[in-house]
Amino acid sequence: SIIAIGILAALADEIRDLIDAMEPGARVHRIGMRDYHEGVLYGHECVIALTRVGKAAAAATTATLLQRFAITRVIFTGVAGGIHAGVKVGDVVIGSETLQHDMDARPLFPRYEVPLLGVSRLTADPELSQQLEHCALRFLAERDSQVHRGLIATGDQFVGNTETGHDLRARLPDALCVEMEGAAVAQVCHEFGIPWAVLRTISDHADSHADIDFLRFLREVASVYSSGILRHYLQT
Ligand code: SAH
Repeated sequence: SIIAIGILAALADEIRDLIDAMEPGARVHRIGMRDYHEGVLYGHECVIALTRVGKAAAAATTATLLQRFAITRVIFTGVAGGIHAGVKVGDVVIGSETLQHDMDARPLFPRYEVPLLGVSRLTADPELSQQLEHCALRFLAERDSQVHRGLIATGDQFVGNTETGHDLRARLPDALCVEMEGAAVAQVCHEFGIPWAVLRTISDHADSHADIDFLRFLREVASVYSSGILRHYLQT
């Protein structure tokens, strides 16, 4: 197949507009219970796929994407819970690093370290992240939102109560937001040697209102942000 940019998201609402924006003639490859949409998006060859929720689902999708298609870089887009003080609903977080906040093989390995990989934090591609940050700033120019760049904490847990949110904040004071896929996508891209970036819009504050805020944001604006920012990226 042709050389393409891989675009992933966990939930249909997060990439529906992008799939709809593909030029006619896009092909759908059904592999392992997932659809890989291969086609042209704003002038670029892309493969768009829905990972579903959680680290295993995200890792499996990323591995298939990288094995079956000639992918030059991977962008994961979606929503996340804000945990750092200055990170508000509607803000955008670009992950400079990701970490699995639920990885804990102590005392065999230090907390958060991925056993046998020898690292806890994985670093996003600086150039790709810089470009996405620039596009997010342009997209948000007329909105009352900010763009942040920093650590994203990933785990197989929806953080929807204040206690868990506080605990995360205490354990990882530099984490900007929490989600359920980023570090898994990052790990597979790292292992395949493919540049990656994670772009998250804040849907909730990882507290006791998180479920309601999350659902409202997802329905109303998640796709607008993802597709709006990635459109700027692909068109420049
Ligand atoms: N499909 C279910 C559950 C979604 S889980 C539903 O629609 O209700 C939440 C998704 O959004 C995950 O993909 C995760 O990456 C992200 N997310 C948003 N807010 C989060 C939070 N507070 N904690 C963990 N993940 C969050």
